[in-house]
Amino acid sequence: MNELVVVGCGTVVPEPDRGASSYFVRIGETSALFDCGPGAVQTLSRLGLPWATLDALVITHFHADHVGALPGLFFAFKHGLYEPRAEPLRIIGPLGTAGFLDRLAAAYGDFVLDPGFPLALDELPAGHELDVGSGIVLRSHKTPHTEESVAYRVDAGDASFGYSGDSGPTDTLGGFMRGVSAFVCECSLRDDEVGDNHLSPGRVARIAREASPNLLILTHVYPHLRRVADVASLVEAAGYGGSVDVAYEGMRVALTNR
Ligand SMILES: [Zn+2]
Ligand SMILES: [Zn+2]
Repeated sequence: MNELVVVGCGTVVPEPDRGASSYFVRIGETSALFDCGPGAVQTLSRLGLPWATLDALVITHFHADHVGALPGLFFAFKHGLYEPRAEPLRIIGPLGTAGFLDRLAAAYGDFVLDPGFPLALDELPAGHELDVGSGIVLRSHKTPHTEESVAYRVDAGDASFGYSGDSGPTDTLGGFMRGVSAFVCECSLRDDEVGDNHLSPGRVARIAREASPNLLILTHVYPHLRRVADVASLVEAAGYGGSVDVAYEGMRVALTNR
């Protein structure tokens, strides 16, 4: 079963019903976690997802709401497994990921770089692709958010998945995501308040029209926007006519192309 499970879809704002950014993707026998924001480790366990046997961790950028739970995950790998793991874990991130992990290890301890099983690190520059085996190809794309920030898409036979990470306005993200099965896209703030480092319903509608996914999943919506408006309706009103949903913790979506 090829599927996406939303682990965390919140923002930097603490909320009772959602942790920060984290998405579990399973394609065939391969499982990956895209971002690992605060709350992710407990939520993986609560949702019954196989955190201990993840094949890959994929990081979009180094903001704490996307990587804040990594130390806890590595500590769990090191000390929280009844049966120690032997299989390697692949870590894929933008340029600078090696230095980022070194700094985490300097702060938290050697277990970050030596959790008791091999780590394989791939820094994937924006605009590059990586064959991760089993017919799965991961591609990265620059997003205007932080110096290192990227979006990703995964293509594997008749399954595909796209994730914006965090992004400011962009004319190229829609084309990059063209035709994905499920497109998880940040939609942080209202059109009249958003700055140059996030997306809003109007910006998302333009990107999604070009991407034309089977399903657009809005995420990273700040609570003050979600409370006062149906964000999906705002994206539709801005001109997007495809299927659109708002992410929630535990949401499961089959990843199958049309
Ligand atoms: Zn960010
Ligand atoms: Zn964020």
